[in-house]
Amino acid sequence: MYDIIIIGAGPAGLTSAVYAGRADKKVLILEKETFGGQITHSPRVENYPGFIQMSGNEFADKLVDQAMAQGAEIELDTALGIEKKDGAFCVKGERAVYEGKSVIIATGSAHRRLNLPKEDKFTGEGVSYCAVCDGAFYNGKDVAVIGGGNSALQESVLLSKNCKSVTVIQNLACLTGETKLIRELEKKDNVSFIYSSVVTELIGDSTFEGIKIKNTETQAETELSFDGIFVAIGQQPMNENFKGTVKLNEWGYVEAGESCIPESEKGIFVAGDCRSKRVRQIATAISDGAVAALAACSYIDSL
Ligand SMILES: Cc1cc2nc3c(=O)[nH]c(=O)nc-3n(C[C@H](O)[C@H](O)[C@H](O)COP(=O)(O)OP(=O)(O)OC[C@H]3O[C@@H](n4cnc5c(N)ncnc54)[C@H](O)[C@@H]3O)c2cc1C
Repeated sequence: MYDIIIIGAGPAGLTSAVYAGRADKKVLILEKETFGGQITHSPRVENYPGFIQMSGNEFADKLVDQAMAQGAEIELDTALGIEKKDGAFCVKGERAVYEGKSVIIATGSAHRRLNLPKEDKFTGEGVSYCAVCDGAFYNGKDVAVIGGGNSALQESVLLSKNCKSVTVIQNLACLTGETKLIRELEKKDNVSFIYSSVVTELIGDSTFEGIKIKNTETQAETELSFDGIFVAIGQQPMNENFKGTVKLNEWGYVEAGESCIPESEKGIFVAGDCRSKRVRQIATAISDGAVAALAACSYIDSL
């Protein structure tokens, strides 16, 4: 019987493990694929306070070591669901069932991808999913934003401040984001729009050179050169397996505020990108991790 079972070994889950371990709690972390979470896909992180520059892997490795140094056990397993049984929680994994007095869901979210060949290869080296994270690497350069909803428009506004040019490429015949953002972008000389077009290919052998797009009305294909593209076609929270256990909002995020306590049985907490919030970054994920762990510790101590 563990005190706390943490689902997800990203920055949020690992931070929870560090805090819970230091409070002498017996902790198990379940991770389905990558110890360290999404940030391992980023070759350069420059906005994490206290570190001028580091790679996502470097950061993730240190956090995993820190969690283990505080006594956390880590299992490679996918959590399929949570059930309450005899006052404790059973987390059903693909490989085993784990029992704990409390559970922290820290499963993160994934940016929807284009699902094109070479996307993995160019991620962080020409293909990005986050202007706040990577925009500064493209100052003075030509970029495209793929998408036409609010996220894409917000990313475009941000990028247009320092990039030489921003081309917004939307699959539909119009933009679907807020009118205010559209007006703001339309006033900018360095922003242009391409409609009814989908990206069909990422061009470049060893380095990213641009994209091929196809017009969905005329079927015409065009090659365009860019220094980088920002894919903003939505995010997918990884909460599907817990939808009967915690309340999810309409976009699939666990509905919870700064307390990291969702609407659910007492003893379940949530941390990081998988919860409803405005800013999804390492800084906010680790903040949640600390808050959720301390809340879980208080809950266990009150049993
Ligand atoms: C390419 C890229 C670059 C980025 N750059 C920056 C940056 O420069 N600065 C910054 O602050 N942020 C950056 N981010 C965002 C940052 O990585 C996230 O905000 C942060 O990782 C969120 O942490 P998390 O722990 O909440 O979730 P995640 O990092 O998503 O971790 C969740 C973990 O849970 C696991 N998991 C999911 N479901 C299950 C399950 N059912 N069972 C077991 N395990 C499960 C996942 O495999 C994952 O490892 C970047 C993101 C990407 C993709």
